[in-house]
Amino acid sequence: MARRRSAVRIGVTGLGQREELAPGVFINTFYRGCTPGFIHTEEGIVLVDAPLIPTQAIDWRTQIEEEYPGEPFLLLINTDHHRGHALGNQYFMPVKVLAHERAYKEIVRNSFKREPEIQAQLNNIIIIPPHLTFTQRATLLYGNRRVELIFVGGHTPATSLVWLPEEGICFVGDIVWVDQHPYMAQGNTLEWLRALEFLRELDAEFLVPGHGPVVGPEATHRVGEYIEFMRGRVRDFYRAGKNKNETKSGLVGEMLEWFPVPPERKAKIESQIKSGLNRVFREIQREEEEAAGRVVALADDDEEDFE
Ligand SMILES: [Zn+2]
Repeated sequence: MARRRSAVRIGVTGLGQREELAPGVFINTFYRGCTPGFIHTEEGIVLVDAPLIPTQAIDWRTQIEEEYPGEPFLLLINTDHHRGHALGNQYFMPVKVLAHERAYKEIVRNSFKREPEIQAQLNNIIIIPPHLTFTQRATLLYGNRRVELIFVGGHTPATSLVWLPEEGICFVGDIVWVDQHPYMAQGNTLEWLRALEFLRELDAEFLVPGHGPVVGPEATHRVGEYIEFMRGRVRDFYRAGKNKNETKSGLVGEMLEWFPVPPERKAKIESQIKSGLNRVFREIQREEEEAAGRVVALADDDEEDFE
């Protein structure tokens, strides 16, 4: 294992120092909404996701410009379309935004109701949808730097990995969650489990989750178990003849126990878990009906959120 530099973390402002994972590959785990990264190349800077809160996005830009003064921003890759990853795009202009084709959609901003100073900042936000899209894979070659985009879905229909094969670093978006409940309201759990399997076979040294600090490939197991457990329990309830609402209220307590939840976030997390259960119920219902040879047409009931 290569040695990881420890982050120097500062102050009460919600801003923090960048952390260098490999020469020229940086992340910052201090911001709300996502863990953004950037990759220095011989031609300029490739960014991965953008902080949600304007002051933090500006801080991130300043840190990048400090590290590489005057170097152009070549591309900003959004690992999914959720606002935690994409709403800060405007602070890196002029840059071309690259994301999966499905990410080209509106982003919600009705948030931070209890933090008016942050909400006020969002009044001036301009949504920058992707300039460039891809559907399965794309490879960026800048000088000696090779950056591979790999569509995996799972968390959302747009979720994509940013893989640096030479450095063994993979930005995994919201496929991997560590010590917290994965946000599943727009998920496809079979696709998600395949994405986790893919990550295990990738031979990466570092995974950079969409939220929180860097981990190793072993971190894929717990989130996979969580998803498998939820699928299994929902199937039990479905086969016992429970309807969707009975399943949601019957299982939310069991799911809550998987990860610690701070008291002030309990209501929010509970409602997120229920959205996930809602989604999984429909998947299991479809699987069970199809296994029984019945044709089902279930409407998509996407729910929008920001994780
Ligand atoms: Zn997300």
